[in-house]
Amino acid sequence: MNIAYIGIGSNLNSPIAQVTRALLELDQLDNSYLLAYSSLYQSSPMTLDDNSDEQENYINAVAKLATSLEPLDLLDKLQAIENSHERVRKKRWGARTLDLDILLYDHTIITSDMSNGRLVIPHYGLKERDFVLAPIVEINPTLTLPDNSQVSDLLNHCQQYNLKKLEWTH
Ligand code: ATP
Ligand code: CA
Ligand code: CA
Repeated sequence: MNIAYIGIGSNLNSPIAQVTRALLELDQLDNSYLLAYSSLYQSSPMTLDDNSDEQENYINAVAKLATSLEPLDLLDKLQAIENSHERVRKKRWGARTLDLDILLYDHTIITSDMSNGRLVIPHYGLKERDFVLAPIVEINPTLTLPDNSQVSDLLNHCQQYNLKKLEWTH
C-alpha cells in the first residue's frame, strides 16, 4: 500500500455535503481505504488577474488514503468521482462542485514529462496554499515532502486565503 494525500475542495451546490460525500467515496474506492481525514475548512477563492467574476468561499479538507492504485490510475478514479458530482470544467480556478487533487503520493516525484502533462506530484500548488497545508498538518504535523521540507514550516510561510476551521456539527 502507498500513502496518498488528497486535497478536496468545493464551492458550489452545498459544498459541505459535496466534501462529506467525497470522503465516503474515497473510502469506497477500489484498492484503497481512508486512513484519516482533516476537519473541514473555509477559504477564500483563488483569483486570476483577468477573473473578475465573484465566487463563493470554498470548503476544503484533506484525506489520507492508503492505496495500491498507481498514481495515474488514482487520478482517473478521482476524476470519475469529480464527474459523478456533475463537475463542469469551464475555466481554471472557476467555481466547481468538487475538486480532487493528488497532493502527495508517498515520497514519489512525478514530473509533467513523465505523465504527458497529466500529473505532477507533489502538486505544484501544495507549498503555497494554506488551505491544503493546514489540513495536512492537522493530520500529520511532522510530515515531510520528497525534498525534505516540513509541511509545518511551509504553512508558516505560505499564501493566506482567510482560512477558518469549521467545527463539526454532528
Ligand atoms: P490547480 O491545479 O491550480 O489546483 P484546478 O484544480 O482547478 O487548479 P483542474 O482543472 O482541476 O485544475 O485540473 C487540471 C489538470 O491538472 C487535470 O486535468 C490533471 O490532469 C492535472 N493535474 C496535474 N497534476 C495533478 C495532481 N497532482 N492532481 C490532480 N490533477 C493534476
Ligand atoms: Ca485544485
Ligand atoms: Ca484539480
